[in-house]
Amino acid sequence: MYLDFSQKLNKVLEGVTKCLIIPHKNPDADALGSSMALSSFLIKLGKNTKVILPNSPPNYLEWMIKNHDVVSYEKSPEKIKKHLSKSEIIFALDFNSLKRIGTLSNELEKINLPIIMIDHHESPEKFSSLFLSKPEIGSTCEIVYNVIKSINHKLIDKEIATYIYSGILTDTGSFRYPLTSGDTHTIISELFKKGIDHTKIHEKIYDNFSFDRTRLLSVALKNLKLIEKLGVAYTILSKESLAKHNFKKGDTEGFVNFGLRIEGISVSVIFIEDAAENIIKISFRSKNKIDVNKFAKKYFNGGGHKNASGGFSNNSIIETENKFITSIKDFLRV
Ligand code: 5GP
Ligand code: MN
Repeated sequence: MYLDFSQKLNKVLEGVTKCLIIPHKNPDADALGSSMALSSFLIKLGKNTKVILPNSPPNYLEWMIKNHDVVSYEKSPEKIKKHLSKSEIIFALDFNSLKRIGTLSNELEKINLPIIMIDHHESPEKFSSLFLSKPEIGSTCEIVYNVIKSINHKLIDKEIATYIYSGILTDTGSFRYPLTSGDTHTIISELFKKGIDHTKIHEKIYDNFSFDRTRLLSVALKNLKLIEKLGVAYTILSKESLAKHNFKKGDTEGFVNFGLRIEGISVSVIFIEDAAENIIKISFRSKNKIDVNKFAKKYFNGGGHKNASGGFSNNSIIETENKFITSIKDFLRV
């Protein structure tokens, strides 16, 4: 599978010198890790490579982009239009629907370049000329690692290994989600042999809470509500709570997981009032067979993975909460 794709990709890359890489909006460590790893690799292959972000990463992931030629569409749309007009090929990483890159998708629709998609979300849409879609794999970083390894494993150095490790670490929930496999651990062992400092990576990604962020977590925990009979926990962060704790992008990352630590709870949800976009952003997490990807798609304009998905609502917090209570009852009883 990887060999076949890598051979096709090698062919496409022949004669191409200018590459662009695009991960999804609000990039996480898997989106950035896969993009930076592929970017370093393509540069080693002699390609002129840039990474375009639909918007900037959260502060705690800035270390991942600092050695790279990275431009944010939100900050410099004109620059990006120029890059797009000069580029020969585009890589789409860690997303499978153009909706996931926001308004940057309008620019992609205007140009006619080959798009190579590498992703692990369910239900891929057809916007690429070549794609590797593997929903059975826990992270895009794991897929990208296998692809670049089969093209030229000698080019994988400590820096590339660090990016790959970061994405695998976070998207597997520190190696605990069901899609973590023996193969995942084999890859981790190979990354260790490249000299990664796993303790430092873990600290950079997880031990970086500001005091405000820690207090905001306490509000999310205090606001937790249970629908005990259904094994559901949910919490809400209003725009007032966010403002009071000087909310910055990325601050609520991981908050939704706490609900799943409660005994007997298999679905955990967080509703976050996004004053800037005038929506309620929602994150869903579940255990085992409960498919929150389906739920997010059916009721909240969203999607993602079986056990981790997201969506949004255009209604008020109260209306959204009421709709959630009705719909989750409906969904879990069918
Ligand atoms: P998070 O809750 O961490 O924002 O996202 C969890 C997963 O759901 C991610 O894999 C992400 O790609 C997906 N996701 C989050 N929000 C949305 C959304 O609005 N639409 C879709 N289709 N997927 C989403
Ligand atoms: Mn991912």
